[in-house]
Amino acid sequence: MFLESNAFAKDVSERGFRAFLYLDGDEVTADVRSDHRVMSEVVGFYDAMDRSGPWEPVPILVTMSGGGKVEHSFFEETMAKAKQGLADAGPLDAVYISNHGAMVTTEEEDGDGVFFEAMRKAVGPDVPIATTLDPHGNVSARMVDSVDVFVAYRTDPHIDQYERGVEAADLLNEVLDGAQLHKVFVRLPIVPPNVSLFTDTGPFAEMVALGEQRVAEDTSDEIANVSILGGFAFSDTSKNGLAIIVSGRDADSSAAHELARELADVGWANRERFICDPTSMDEAIDRAIAAGKDQSLPPMVFSDLGDNCGAGGPVNTIWMLEALHDAGAQGVLIVNFRDRRLVEAAQVAGVGSTMTAHFSGDEWGRDDGARFSADAKVSALHDGHLVGRRGIVAGKSLFAGPMALLDLGGVRVVVTSRAAVGNDPIYSEALGVDLATVRTIVVKVRSSFPPAYDEFVDHENMLFVDTPGRTSPMLHRMPFENLPRPVYPLDEGFDWVNPLSQA
Ligand SMILES: [Zn+2]
Repeated sequence: MFLESNAFAKDVSERGFRAFLYLDGDEVTADVRSDHRVMSEVVGFYDAMDRSGPWEPVPILVTMSGGGKVEHSFFEETMAKAKQGLADAGPLDAVYISNHGAMVTTEEEDGDGVFFEAMRKAVGPDVPIATTLDPHGNVSARMVDSVDVFVAYRTDPHIDQYERGVEAADLLNEVLDGAQLHKVFVRLPIVPPNVSLFTDTGPFAEMVALGEQRVAEDTSDEIANVSILGGFAFSDTSKNGLAIIVSGRDADSSAAHELARELADVGWANRERFICDPTSMDEAIDRAIAAGKDQSLPPMVFSDLGDNCGAGGPVNTIWMLEALHDAGAQGVLIVNFRDRRLVEAAQVAGVGSTMTAHFSGDEWGRDDGARFSADAKVSALHDGHLVGRRGIVAGKSLFAGPMALLDLGGVRVVVTSRAAVGNDPIYSEALGVDLATVRTIVVKVRSSFPPAYDEFVDHENMLFVDTPGRTSPMLHRMPFENLPRPVYPLDEGFDWVNPLSQA
């Protein structure tokens, strides 16, 4: 049950999950063997189990959504369904849970912990449980204690999901063969904004690399896994904080303890590097205007940080649209903007016609109803059934709902009926856009867009823009209520003693 809950986004109902991904029972295996709509770690897990010898998968459910807190009644129904599935399966050798790790319900902040614990109670203490998690998960001791195998992705953008599914299956097989994995868990009072959690460069990347280096140096194979989770600040829970979980094979877990201690010390020493310094709106608009006028300037991608689809952004804030249009910027493409009614209006108008396009967006931080209107030409329409071409969703079937390309003059907008992450060129190309001619691409996603657009735009011209919204990484602006305090970067100048340093 895969959800990254943004406490500032709208609650998610059963309908939200069913609309996004809901694979019941044998549909999971069928999907793994054909469509691959499930997260890649599930595919990796199946593949590794296939390779390890005969096994019988008894899939119960894979469901997923984006957004806010899940309605507690649906959470409980899903948990009951999972427990019933475990009971119906009869004697089991092992259980695999593929969750995100930042699920909050409308009544429970530790959604994943409650879920994991319920699965543990259902199968008893002797059936090993493995889980894979997203490094934006917020870890509780209940989560760690309820499972035997704990594996988080080690990349952001998340491109190692498949490998982590393989790793979880391999470690699970070790446990089935009698190995015991001891987990050492420590959480730091650092709530990093998600823009500081990339794994190519920066403080989080260095922590992950150090963990991998120590594993490579560990000739006696005492360390089974190092999982470092930066967490998801916007979940706004008391269990938020940069988390380190080291799993050791050594009987006294001293090697795991020592490595977790070292990583925690490094994380704390680097705390000031986990702050965010994005490009201001004003500077971004100026650069877009310049790029539109001067073809010798490089093309750019702007990441609209306040409306990050992957973090619960509604994919329809109008700040960038309004500012770029009002400034007369040329050669701009916004991809995607969610507005089902506007797509319907474009369908009624028809391709080639002009209309007054009424964009209605997210009201967070606005007192004007967040409406924006402009004359627009309907350049193209599409049914929204797509297959990813490049980047992390390459080869995956995507559904944006019916789509329209609206041309407002200097600014063109890919309008979708569903919340669709603009992290693949196909959303634009399906509507006839030649991305090589676009001067400024605006995406409403933070993490996964660079591999989608780097054939058109150099990485140094991909800018993170400080826009208002429910996913702003300027954490001091957000109305947090439940974070543990003191916590960096909201509080500064406080001391922290690494609990693993104490005898
Ligand atoms: Zn993530």
